[in-house]
Amino acid sequence: MTAREWFTRAEKENFAIGAFNVDNLEIFKGIVTAAKNKNSPVMVQFSPGEVGYFGLKNLVDLVINAREEYKIPILLNLDHSRTVEDCRAAISQPGFDDVHFDGSHLEIDENIKNAKDVVAFAHSKGVIVEGEMDKLGGSSEVHEEEIDEATLRQSYTDPKRAAKFVKETGVDIFAAVCGNIHGTFLNQKDLDIALLTQIKGALPDTFLALHGGSGTPAEQIKLAIKAGIVKVNINTELRVAYHDALLEKLGESPNEYKIYSFSNEIAMAVAAVVENKIDVFGSAGKA
Ligand SMILES: [Zn+2]
Repeated sequence: MTAREWFTRAEKENFAIGAFNVDNLEIFKGIVTAAKNKNSPVMVQFSPGEVGYFGLKNLVDLVINAREEYKIPILLNLDHSRTVEDCRAAISQPGFDDVHFDGSHLEIDENIKNAKDVVAFAHSKGVIVEGEMDKLGGSSEVHEEEIDEATLRQSYTDPKRAAKFVKETGVDIFAAVCGNIHGTFLNQKDLDIALLTQIKGALPDTFLALHGGSGTPAEQIKLAIKAGIVKVNINTELRVAYHDALLEKLGESPNEYKIYSFSNEIAMAVAAVVENKIDVFGSAGKA
């Protein structure tokens, strides 16, 4: 099944597909093991920094090999790519299902022009495109402060502008901003579900993505899926699981130099987080 078919099914059956960022091999193994255990479709995604670390060709091979080995649907997405060139490079590789062109740092006309270019090339290769109009705040890390709601509100998606953006660019997925923010904070995130419902109403034929899924209460994620979200991005919670498990293992065995002897256990700490997310997203058993 293509990514478009998966998201169409998710919308119809009221579930979302987790789009999990891959920092390293342990996190990758954690994600695909969890998806296998839950018999769930899953999306793995790489941001520019993560692509830089792995190398584009290596990550493609990793995903293609895992599809065969784990025998579950593993969709591949380029996350937050800020240039047309990087999108084209990914689309030109075998294996990509989706690219996220993030032109939210550009003037709107420039964003639309570039997104349109990406869409034309992607669609010619059977790849779908996610567009972003409103700058999503935060960064995928643990923030030791509260969310600044007043600032966050300034970037909330305006449904009418979103409809115009989608019509002009032809993007398949739209990154909605409605209280979501990258990273975890001292206070909980509070999604504006009424706004999300309006965005979906303005974009009936476009898939909706929710970035900044980490640290969002499960009940809110479930409401967001009911309102039309079919892709939930998770990064920070995986980074935290990996980081904490690694620290714990090194603390227990400071003289162990064969680090891979406990890498699998670290991967399973990540898998536990992913399994929990899959349950919340309702994608278990859908593979
Ligand atoms: Zn994001």
